[in-house]
Amino acid sequence: MKRRVFSGARPTGKQHLGNYLGAIQNYVSLQDEYQCVYCIVDIHALTSLEDTGGLQKNIHEMMLDWLAAGLDPRKSILFVQSHVPEVMQLHTLLGMVTPLSWLLRVPTFKEKVKLQPHNVNYGLVGYPVLMTADIVLYKAEVVPVGEDQLPHLELAREIARRFNNLFGNAFPEPQAKLTSFPMILGLNGKEKMSKQADNDIEIALSPQETIERVMMAVTDPARQYRNDPGHPEVCNVYSLHRYFSPLQLDDIATQCRSAKIGCVDCKVLLAQEINSSLEPFRERRAILASKPRHIVDVLADGTQRAQIIARETLREVKQKMGLI
Ligand code: SF4
Repeated sequence: MKRRVFSGARPTGKQHLGNYLGAIQNYVSLQDEYQCVYCIVDIHALTSLEDTGGLQKNIHEMMLDWLAAGLDPRKSILFVQSHVPEVMQLHTLLGMVTPLSWLLRVPTFKEKVKLQPHNVNYGLVGYPVLMTADIVLYKAEVVPVGEDQLPHLELAREIARRFNNLFGNAFPEPQAKLTSFPMILGLNGKEKMSKQADNDIEIALSPQETIERVMMAVTDPARQYRNDPGHPEVCNVYSLHRYFSPLQLDDIATQCRSAKIGCVDCKVLLAQEINSSLEPFRERRAILASKPRHIVDVLADGTQRAQIIARETLREVKQKMGLI
């Protein structure tokens, strides 16, 4: 029997290169070795979303990208968090075994308070409990995380352990599958690629739109004129060539340093490589997008399969807690 992996991602809509090179490719690669449970965590999004009008569209577009990128509903359970409401019940029950002091010391809570002082809601404090419920509801044994996520997973393990100690073994303590998610910088070359910062390149863009976005990328700031020698090691365009033009990297670096290639040509080359690498993805996406029922059916099937596990876990938890 394959070990079970759980991972969730917020409904951010059309995915960008950072999502693709980080989470999505990793999700796809885990599918053969593990039984994967992948969830779009719409309830988590509510902790910081004040306008929820675009939520359904975001879920649809994100799932289109996931499927076109290779997530296979025959191998993985794909669903939306709120469609399996058992997670909210488990969240409440786990809240009874989680000391408030554990939650108040979580660094991301303090960061969120600074980021949205006008909206310090209960959900922000309870976020790690809901995250734990997401994982243990499906009795996931493995959670792919980057190093920065390790403290969150440790907290989930502590909550699961505390429940097991108080009421008897119900949950496996989820293990981290430490994964090196490449840090993809945005077009400004300063911060992580993200939609909010409007520094992203969506993978579903048309080839022409991709060229236009890549042309906006900041390059080596010291290279003011075409004949100035460049420094590829500090250039974000060059860092993207690492993923999309691996065989030409040495050539690009040499030509950049000797000013044989200009930044415009270098960007055109990058855009062409991105376009050719994403062509099969975009073809699959167009086919999937032409069948709007398909996403609905995939999510309904994923919900049904997730709910079978969820109901069984919740029944066991309630029994152990003396509720039934
Ligand atoms: Fe960057 Fe390419 Fe310009 Fe060199 S030539 S600075 S690698 S964009």
